[in-house]
Amino acid sequence: MKALCWHGRGDVRVERVPDPSILNPRDAIIEVTSTAICGSDLHLYDGFIPARKRGDILGHEFMGEVVEIGSKVRNLRPGDRVVVPFTIACGGCFFCREQLWSLCDNSNPNASMAEKIAGYSGSGLFGYSHLYGGYPGGQAEYVRVPFADVGPFKVPDELLDEHVLFLTDIFPTGCMAAENCGLRGGETVAVWGCGPVGQFAIRSAWLLGAGRVVAIDRIPERLQMAASDGRTDVLNYEDVDVLEELRALTDGHGPDACIDAVGLEAHGTTLDAWYDLAKTRTMMATDRSHALRQAILACRKGGVVSIPGVYAGLLDKFPLGTAFAKALTLRMGQTHVHRYLPKLLDHIERGDINPSFVITHRASLDEAPDMYRLFRDKQDECVKVVLEPGRRAAH
Ligand code: NAD
Ligand code: ZN
Repeated sequence: MKALCWHGRGDVRVERVPDPSILNPRDAIIEVTSTAICGSDLHLYDGFIPARKRGDILGHEFMGEVVEIGSKVRNLRPGDRVVVPFTIACGGCFFCREQLWSLCDNSNPNASMAEKIAGYSGSGLFGYSHLYGGYPGGQAEYVRVPFADVGPFKVPDELLDEHVLFLTDIFPTGCMAAENCGLRGGETVAVWGCGPVGQFAIRSAWLLGAGRVVAIDRIPERLQMAASDGRTDVLNYEDVDVLEELRALTDGHGPDACIDAVGLEAHGTTLDAWYDLAKTRTMMATDRSHALRQAILACRKGGVVSIPGVYAGLLDKFPLGTAFAKALTLRMGQTHVHRYLPKLLDHIERGDINPSFVITHRASLDEAPDMYRLFRDKQDECVKVVLEPGRRAAH
């Protein structure tokens, strides 16, 4: 089959690789009909996530048709159309039973590697380095899905792939980010980053009762997309002083909740942002955490900083003293995708939201290397790329 393989920083290639096969009675093989490129893939592409190997198949946002099932998979049949959570979960361990699916204790065969860094390991993830299990990802024609009796979620035939594909990651991620804000109704929520995750965090904050949402980025088309709901305020951090603006919009208090949907590759115009850039370029630091610092500084006293953006290492110049002094609550983590699927599918079916609004590019798998470049460099007004392995290349 064809698959998108990682070969080095900024180097991904479409190659012929062996087809996956059932290795475990709880596996299924899925023929991928649609798969997306995520901001998290960029962290791999740009070399921020450790434990990659040449030839690793990337991709953790994918859906398709079941073509084969293991002997213990009773909930699926060949022909079923499913979306697959990017977090792999066994369904039976303490964490899965607590609905903390992304913390599954049984799905990372390389847990010992993660334990050395983090003390304990989270769940395995598709296509996301050997630290998270070394599972081949879904930017491919076929993919093996472990614990297929738990993860894959059937979707109605009436809905197109583009309506349901983002249930695999970014819609639940935006939703969990907003849920972590603990909204009771009427709050001001500020969202850093208007990438796909930020867009879903904004819309989820509204769905959960925010009274005002302010979105921050520097890329005009992304700010425009955020504002296109007709009620989200936007700030371009290259044009204004974000802290001052947020203070002015909130009677001097700061937003009740701040969502960092940027993660470890933040840009910025302030001194600390340049400092991060210099330090990560010289391998003296692991993460560029300017957006998170700003969210902590901006948040009102006693507020919540919700962090869906990915961080990988030991953060430099982290203002924990400020967070402490203001009694902030910090909430974060990989998304517990499984928990959100039924509820978010309901929202889609009821027409509360059509997740396809973020898609700007559709391409074949062969075009994936170009699409990675485009998405990373934010060229051609690219916000979200969907790859269709069954589609022919345009050139
Ligand atoms: P993206 O790269 O498309 O978007 C990031 C956006 O942040 C860009 O538009 C960029 O211009 C903006 N940005 C950069 N610096 C900024 C700053 N200082 N202030 C405001 N905006 C700034 O990525 P994405 O797909 O939207 O993903 C965002 C983050 O969410 C990534 O870190 C990704 O890894 C993470 N993520 C986490 C989960 C999870 O389970 N927690 C799931 C999916 C993605
Ligand atoms: Zn993702």
